[in-house]
Amino acid sequence: MGAITIGCHLSTSAGFEAMGRTALEIGANTFAFFTRNPRGGSAKALDPRDVEALLTLMAEHGFGKLVAHAPYTMNLCSATERTVEFAREAMAGDLERMEALPGNYYNFHPGSHVRQGAGRGIELICEGLNQVLVPGQRTRVLLETMAGKGTEVGRSFEELARIIDGTRENQLLGVCLDTCHVSDAGYDVAGDLDGVLDEFDRVIGLDRLCALHLNDSKNPRGSHKDRHERIGEGTLGLDAFRAVVTNPRTRDLPMILETPNDLAGYRREIALLRGLAADVEE
Ligand SMILES: [Zn+2]
Repeated sequence: MGAITIGCHLSTSAGFEAMGRTALEIGANTFAFFTRNPRGGSAKALDPRDVEALLTLMAEHGFGKLVAHAPYTMNLCSATERTVEFAREAMAGDLERMEALPGNYYNFHPGSHVRQGAGRGIELICEGLNQVLVPGQRTRVLLETMAGKGTEVGRSFEELARIIDGTRENQLLGVCLDTCHVSDAGYDVAGDLDGVLDEFDRVIGLDRLCALHLNDSKNPRGSHKDRHERIGEGTLGLDAFRAVVTNPRTRDLPMILETPNDLAGYRREIALLRGLAADVEE
């Protein structure tokens, strides 16, 4: 059994190779990054030499799959036509650029239906994905499990399953499970990980579970809040994460920390989680 694949969200400001080097410095063997400014706007052109340097570094150091993150402002199911149009263009552009890093993941928040109702929201998300996903693309697109704050779509496994069912090229879709979000959404991920995974398997299918966001939560289960806390310092607690990094159904997935930390804090959390995973190996 190999070591877990774990990292955190990193800044793209110094380029791709720099993210790989930062990951190594903090003990990570994967990472997440925004494909463009999280507040929206245009994307920087990729420097092919910089991308090549990252791919070489990843191969040399046995990195797992990266989990790129779409901007938060991208809303495929907005009530405003221009916002939907921008979201589709942004996603299409991001996926085109992700082809320079083939075989990795692109994670996005399904969207907020802004009082149009979850049904209409899901319809719009499927329309967007049907327009944007290209057969043969080498990036799998991950729907993130959401806390159900406001009018967020993706607050239940059922909603994610409906998006997958309504998308033509759905072999290109997977799910990124965020531990804070699913707890805030009401699932007992801290007390009964196996029960939650059984439910996921029944509704979506575990073959779709591709990546994890590891975050503790500032709020109790079912609060629909989405406030991340450091690992072990929130309502989920350390035992919840011990379960995630050792469970045979989750321990081999890429795990991304989005906890309130600086790089030194991430380095400590990565070491902590590697330690918890290693305790039961052998
Ligand atoms: Zn996210």
